[in-house]
Amino acid sequence: MKSSVILDCPICGQNHEVQLKTRKQVAIIKDEEVTYQEEYYLCTNANEDNEFVSGELLDSNLLRARDEYRKKNNLLTSNQIKAIRKKYNLNQAELSLILGWGEITITRYETKQIQDYSHDKILKTIDSNSLFLLDCYNENKDKLSKKVSNDRCKEIENKIKDMVAEFSLYYLNEQELLAKYMSYDKDNVKCGYKKISIRKLEGIVNYIANKVDNLYKVKLMKILWYCDFLYFKKYNESLTGLVYEHKPMGALPIGYNQITRLKSISSKVEEFEADDGTITEGCHIFTNDKYDVEPLAKNEKNVIDKVLDMVIGMSTKLIVDKMHQEKAYKNTEENEIISYEYAKDISL
Ligand SMILES: [Zn+2]
Repeated sequence: MKSSVILDCPICGQNHEVQLKTRKQVAIIKDEEVTYQEEYYLCTNANEDNEFVSGELLDSNLLRARDEYRKKNNLLTSNQIKAIRKKYNLNQAELSLILGWGEITITRYETKQIQDYSHDKILKTIDSNSLFLLDCYNENKDKLSKKVSNDRCKEIENKIKDMVAEFSLYYLNEQELLAKYMSYDKDNVKCGYKKISIRKLEGIVNYIANKVDNLYKVKLMKILWYCDFLYFKKYNESLTGLVYEHKPMGALPIGYNQITRLKSISSKVEEFEADDGTITEGCHIFTNDKYDVEPLAKNEKNVIDKVLDMVIGMSTKLIVDKMHQEKAYKNTEENEIISYEYAKDISL
């Protein structure tokens, strides 16, 4: 940011270079105290009463204060609202009309007014679920067509449909996974006292897929189990929040098929040579570099690295055999959920 600017200074009445400064300031927004960065100008020609703000600075200060209130209350910030709108190549009036709102609603949210909870929820929904926006578009396209040309309407419709084609299967797959985990909350030892987070899980699987060549589904699931149980042993919570069941091939997380279909993961069914030389089919896991994933914390990486040190070079069969020897596996029956209480006994 520029630290000085030349303008007509209202303090000394001259056109000169004034300093642009920032400081922490407190504001009251909707009866709540928020701390934000305030910008102001300083006239160096005067010694006292030498601070002032322009109308433009006043607006941006207010916007910053309101955004702090939004962050504190888990509401989308003005920039996040703008980013969602831009993703669909819509202008402010178009998005307002498609959502069935007053034409200047989005403009107000991006520049001054704080959105209410229900509108916030709708904006978050269209961010992840393009199908919902397509539904809104179909309901409100008559209203939209009174304000924009037919060509533009068609263009908007096609853009939303492109987004549906690219993202809706990922979205539905995530919803399926989340539905399977809806009963596993932070107070439940079966998920290791952690609520599953899709973004976190993607980060973890990506990290593993980047480090392990020839990563197939069975191997990945065993690696995840060891990572989760080792993490629980150290920190008394699981790494991913996954819940594992006792299956013939070892521990398998609930929703394992959905895990291999997450947005930032690519998988391909391929033939490969098994340890005994026979050719079998397997689901090969890669990273999908098109999408950014959540970076991992240092202690998370350390635990994963420790597991990878053990399994790299081991065949899938050896890993499965190793797991079969774990107390967690021996003391549970087929299809039973393997409690994280067994984490203290794992051989790592
Ligand atoms: Zn001045």
